[in-house]
Amino acid sequence: MRDILPADGVVDDAAGLRSYESDGLTAYRQVPLVAVLPETTAQVAAILRWCHARGVKVVPRGSGTSLSGGALPLADGVLLVLSKMRAILDIDYANRVAVLQPGIANLAVTQAVEAEGFYYAPDPSSQIICSIGGNVAENSGGVHCLKYGITTNNVLGVELVLMDGETVRLGGTLLEQQGLDLLGLIVGSEGLLGIVTEVTVRILPKPQTARALLLGFATIEHASQFVADVISGGIIPAGMEMMDRPAIHAAEAFVGRGYPLDVEALVIAELDGPAVECQHLVDEVAAIAGRNHAVSTRVSHSEEERLSFWAGRKAAFPAVGRLAPDYYCMDGTIPRHRLAEVLQRIAALSSEYGLGVANVFHAGDGNLHPLILYDANRPGELERAEEFGADILRLCVEVGGVLTGEHGVGVEKRDLMPVMFTQTDLDHQQRVKCAFDPELLLNPGKVFPTLRRCAELGRVHVHGGRLAFPDIPRF
Ligand SMILES: Cc1cc2nc3c(=O)[nH]c(=O)nc-3n(C[C@H](O)[C@H](O)[C@H](O)COP(=O)(O)OP(=O)(O)OC[C@H]3O[C@@H](n4cnc5c(N)ncnc54)[C@H](O)[C@@H]3O)c2cc1C
Repeated sequence: MRDILPADGVVDDAAGLRSYESDGLTAYRQVPLVAVLPETTAQVAAILRWCHARGVKVVPRGSGTSLSGGALPLADGVLLVLSKMRAILDIDYANRVAVLQPGIANLAVTQAVEAEGFYYAPDPSSQIICSIGGNVAENSGGVHCLKYGITTNNVLGVELVLMDGETVRLGGTLLEQQGLDLLGLIVGSEGLLGIVTEVTVRILPKPQTARALLLGFATIEHASQFVADVISGGIIPAGMEMMDRPAIHAAEAFVGRGYPLDVEALVIAELDGPAVECQHLVDEVAAIAGRNHAVSTRVSHSEEERLSFWAGRKAAFPAVGRLAPDYYCMDGTIPRHRLAEVLQRIAALSSEYGLGVANVFHAGDGNLHPLILYDANRPGELERAEEFGADILRLCVEVGGVLTGEHGVGVEKRDLMPVMFTQTDLDHQQRVKCAFDPELLLNPGKVFPTLRRCAELGRVHVHGGRLAFPDIPRF
């Protein structure tokens, strides 16, 4: 690695490696064999070529905020960190595209174009630090994705280095693509198919006005029905987020912005567009809230007030950190009309497992983020929290939803994949992996619950958790 990279591009001392031992799923830790920080696509290609020739495993890492353990290192693998590749390569305002290196932080893209009246729409709550390359790998979403789409709807092209060191370009700068949609395959592929070394994204003109409503409801059912009625009424808010009582109280104690404390559910709905249209939509949404028995309604009349409404929601995760020594953030998606029922069943599971839960979520997309409260210092609590979380995800699938909304499968949900997919589905997905990385060297042990050599695919099954191929990489 030292032959390929400058001296400060290789980290192999124990203290330096320690800082890479985990990502956002901090319950899991593993110090990598070595961490390398390339600065160019050519260096990435050289690293992969070297590793490929020697059968060395590689784990890609952006900013390490994955909540599903996607960037968890391997003891016998190279951790390839993209954080030094953070340049903006081109901004084309006329065609509304920006070309970026993968390590740039999500928010830095908006900051670079906002003086010209533009922004990058997908806005994960981790946007001050998470990288664009990580966003592509996880197909990340955020508050504004309800109206403006998730990462896959905002990425036009990537440069990708394959495990054998070959560099390919997928997509381009236009909305229309030629040939197979291989770009669609890469977005959300969790670092299993190649290293993203350049990303072309759409940038959008900032809306003329944005206004928010802060709505309190006496029951989760009323709040859920309100959300369903807004969408079925043909209104797509720029964002529509919900918090339950524990989350409201934690957020209010944290930021003190006057959230109502006598309600069971709080919804923040944001409308944007030209001022006249915005006013019309605010009135419509307020009327729908009234019909669904909202017990408190506040409408923002200034930018300061709008931001104040959002302050508690944006700080909700750290705020919930005050409720218990640890929490485990789940991520599953359900059909919107099942919201109330699913939240009730999560409450029942909470009693059953004897662990508290706070809910903060993207209600408009049906993307739940139950935060399971536990204390890792108490023996058995982490395991109980994980089992509770797995039950929540099984519930999401049972009601017609999916295992993940935006945080990815990683290691966290890997063993739950058969809840959602048949073995045939999984075999087909793994054949795609084999087409890109036949030796299974790139981010092994993530996403797929059973591992088999590509040559064996379709012939040999691993059943009941028995490890038939102990030499195939797992951790
Ligand atoms: C407080 C907090 C809030 C969050 N809120 C949200 C949210 O609102 N919405 C949301 O979607 N997510 C959220 N996340 C999760 C996380 O921030 C996203 O998944 C993010 O996209 C990860 O980016 P990263 O740069 O940190 O990637 P990492 O964590 O470093 O890596 C994530 C995955 O991408 C792969 N990868 C990284 N870079 C590349 C690359 N260049 N090429 C190929 N593969 C690569 C890694 O191998 C790994 O599998 C949150 C996380 C935290 C800690």
